[in-house]
Amino acid sequence: MNVVPLARLARERHLDPASAIPVMRTVLARAGLLVEEGVDGATLSVVRPFLDGALALTCGHAECDAIAPRLCGGSVVHASPHRCCVCGASANERARARIYAACIATGARRLVVVGGSPSHREELAGGGARWGREIVGPLGIEWRFVDGSGRHTETAARANIAWADLVVIWAPTQLGHTVSDQYTGSARHPRTATCARKGFGALADTIADALRG
Ligand SMILES: [Zn+2]
Repeated sequence: MNVVPLARLARERHLDPASAIPVMRTVLARAGLLVEEGVDGATLSVVRPFLDGALALTCGHAECDAIAPRLCGGSVVHASPHRCCVCGASANERARARIYAACIATGARRLVVVGGSPSHREELAGGGARWGREIVGPLGIEWRFVDGSGRHTETAARANIAWADLVVIWAPTQLGHTVSDQYTGSARHPRTATCARKGFGALADTIADALRG
C-alpha cells in the first residue's frame, strides 16, 4: 500500500500544517480513512472531496474560527486569509463575523440598528434589506433597520424595543433627534448601545462589546 502522509495532503491544499494535520487526522480517522499517519493512495479520489467537505478553512482570526463550523460546516483549519470561508480576507466581512460570533456566544438573535445608510444596511444584512423590515441573516440572526432621517412613530419604536435583544444607536450617521429620542428616552431597551464612530468596524465593535459586556 502506498501511504500518502497527512503533511503532503495539507501541503497540496496550502493549509497551515500545525492547525491542519491534527484536525485532518481526527476527521479521517472518524471516517475510517486514516492509515498509519496518512491515507491509502488508492483512496485519494475519495479522500480529497471528503476533506473539502469536512474542513472549514479560515484566516485564523478568532471571530472567523468561532462561526466557521456553523456557517461553512466542518472542522476549522487555518489557511491563507483570502481562502477564509467566513471573511475571504475582507475587513467588512470580518466585522460582520464579529457581530455574529458575539450573538452566538451570548444567545442574542435580534438586533435593531437606528440610523445608518442603505449601503450600511446592505453590508450588514445583504442586498434585500429594507428600512423597517425584518431580515434574517446567516445563522438566524435577525435585523431591523430604522431610517434615522425618516418619520418614525412611537408605536413602531416601542414594537422594535420589545422585539430586540439589543438596540444600537448609530449616532454619527443621518439620524434625527426625533427618531433617536424614541430609543434613548424612558422607554429605552435595557440593552441600548451608542456607536459614536461612522465605520462599519466601529459598529461591529460596539455591538460585540455591548453583547458581551
Ligand atoms: Zn476570516
